[in-house]
Amino acid sequence: MQTVRAKKSLGQHFLKDLGVARRIAETAPAGRILEIGPGMGVLTQFLLSNPQIHLTAIELDSESVQYLHEWYPELHLIEGDFLKLDLNQLYPEGDFCVIGNYPYNISSQIFFKLLDYKDRIPVCSGMIQKEVAERLASGPGNKAYGILSVLLQAWYDIEYLETVPEHVFAPPPKVKSAVIRMKRNNRKSLGCDEQLFKSVVKAAFNQRRKQMRNSLQQLAGKGNPILEENIFTRRPEQLSVEEFIHLTNLLQSCQN
Ligand code: SAH
Repeated sequence: MQTVRAKKSLGQHFLKDLGVARRIAETAPAGRILEIGPGMGVLTQFLLSNPQIHLTAIELDSESVQYLHEWYPELHLIEGDFLKLDLNQLYPEGDFCVIGNYPYNISSQIFFKLLDYKDRIPVCSGMIQKEVAERLASGPGNKAYGILSVLLQAWYDIEYLETVPEHVFAPPPKVKSAVIRMKRNNRKSLGCDEQLFKSVVKAAFNQRRKQMRNSLQQLAGKGNPILEENIFTRRPEQLSVEEFIHLTNLLQSCQN
């Protein structure tokens, strides 16, 4: 087989630049690594050549799977959809790390899924759209700061490593890309109800231009005196992770 025909519906933009591929592969620590969307294996080849890495890859596109079987017969490859993959079955216990030049069309969904395994994923790295990378890595007060920034930064330190231009992909995507690395921080628990924290962050950012007095009214219950507290006059994009935790505890206290 020559090469895989790129399919737009699968977010396929194959990386051509081996220098970028090598640098992404080098962000992977030793140990068990799951690669999402290997495509034609541009990252995979570097990961396989590292004897300290125990690699598994999951690829949805059967044409890519066939290509990978041919070129990398030693690769432990799962054909399927990462979003449907049972990670507890693949890794019944212990830590694993995640890497990829990810399918951009589902990058947010990938990160929401990884959050459910945060205590077992010490490092997650790879390439995504530049815009999403900026969102993940930016802090309060920044226009890009949003739901995923808060939910991920609660548990991970996020580094923006490099910007990658369109022309090093075939076919070139419409957007620039960026390489990021997320490392699990030392936080063991949030100090508030985690489900409520997620609901608070989502509700607040769903109306990001409004004071939280409005957007959180439903969670607090209309007319709840707690909404008079100063913090509710602020906008979500100004709040740090710690302040969202504080906010969650305020709301929790009036729910009991
Ligand atoms: N890593 C390769 C390919 C990047 S394109 C490279 O750098 O060249 C994104 C890849 O993700 C494609 O191969 C696409 O088929 C695959 N993909 C898309 N959706 C997927 C899903 N839900 N689960 C697993 N792989 C997926």
